[in-house]
Amino acid sequence: MAGTEQLLLNILIIVLSILIYFSLGPQYKYKKAVAVLLPGTAMLLCMTFPFNVLGGYKYDLRVIPLLLGILYGGYASGILLSTVMIGYRYYLGGPGFILTLYSFPPVILLAFALLRRFDQMQSKTRYLVGSGLALLWAFICTLISFFGSKGVPVTQENILFYVAFCFLHALAMWMCMYLMETLRENEQMKVEIQRTEKLNALSHLAASIAHEVRNPLTVVRGFMQLLKEKKTDESEQRYIRLMIDELDRAEEIIHNFLTLAKPQNEDVKCFDAAVEVRHVVSVASAYASLRNVEIQLDLGAPLMIKGNPAKFSQVLLNIIKNGIEAMPKGGTLQIIGLQEENSAIIDVIDMGVGMTQQEVNRLGTPFFSSKSEGTGLGLLTSFRIVQMMNGTIKVTSKKGKGTHFSIRIPMAS
Ligand code: ADP
Ligand code: MG
Repeated sequence: MAGTEQLLLNILIIVLSILIYFSLGPQYKYKKAVAVLLPGTAMLLCMTFPFNVLGGYKYDLRVIPLLLGILYGGYASGILLSTVMIGYRYYLGGPGFILTLYSFPPVILLAFALLRRFDQMQSKTRYLVGSGLALLWAFICTLISFFGSKGVPVTQENILFYVAFCFLHALAMWMCMYLMETLRENEQMKVEIQRTEKLNALSHLAASIAHEVRNPLTVVRGFMQLLKEKKTDESEQRYIRLMIDELDRAEEIIHNFLTLAKPQNEDVKCFDAAVEVRHVVSVASAYASLRNVEIQLDLGAPLMIKGNPAKFSQVLLNIIKNGIEAMPKGGTLQIIGLQEENSAIIDVIDMGVGMTQQEVNRLGTPFFSSKSEGTGLGLLTSFRIVQMMNGTIKVTSKKGKGTHFSIRIPMAS
């Protein structure tokens, strides 16, 4: 075929743009801008080097970066890319502009309609959706080419070209999505490993220091108690009480640390997470009403998971407490428990101050706290406990809007 070189060039351009995007790493500052720029450039380059021209219609792989940009980049990037593509096709001129005008809108609109659900889909379903969209576009193109006003002649050679054209689009889209999902998974794994390493380093430190500090503290507290009983002076009594309170606070911090340091769950059993959620909510409700926060609880069937119920409660309490504290002016804290595939999911959603992406990335770093009274250990401990239960905690947050903590733990079978 005459345009094989251009076709390969199209594929190379697209693959290269994907590789460049992922080589920037997860922490790259301008990732959002690059996520539009790269598919945009790939699309324009593909359009500049079409692999076949029939009846004035130019054929290239532009729909692939466009669809990738929409499906993975979202509405804003999708609208921008679509506008640029149509604008550039107009600039290139020729009768093919009409083809673009008729064939793209239905596919782009369909992609937008599927966008909301795309994030929750499994990767296999995603491949199907992506390839399906690319195939649909190629098919519409074929129909317009044969039956449109320009009327490409129905010869055996042309039919063969369009069959290959449709097949090629589905295949190329599938391939690109596979590459993207694999690279994305790798990237997430890398972030996860870094986080785990951080936790491990900390737990070793905790194990060695916490224990040593705890013993003298206990001794001091004991003598304080004795002193308190002996002294009758009112103000001295008050001082000693203050000292004991502060010692208890230190003890609590150390307790949190030791939870981190012990990698194994001592008392592992099967239990119903929904029961624990109800229990923790009842414990936290007084604290919530004190801060004008209403807790909305939505639990369905029992959620049997394996682990230490006391530690699981600690995780819930930490996250629920954070949610309440994130709403200084009051509000509603939503807690939802449900089963999804083979996992128990507990969602804790607040309408509070929210966090920027940078702050979300820092969650679970020791002593990261925005509160004057905060220890910055709550989430660190929580991440660790959930990790020990083979689960994950996903955080999505919007500054000024609120935060969504999603705990996912595999069901006990
Ligand atoms: P602490 O609550 O003692 O500050 P945590 O580890 O529980 O420590 O939380 C660390 C920090 O993460 C908090 O200080 C806060 O800045 C942020 N954070 C946690 N949960 C939320 C939330 N639901 N909304 C907004 N910020 C939060
Ligand atoms: Mg906290």
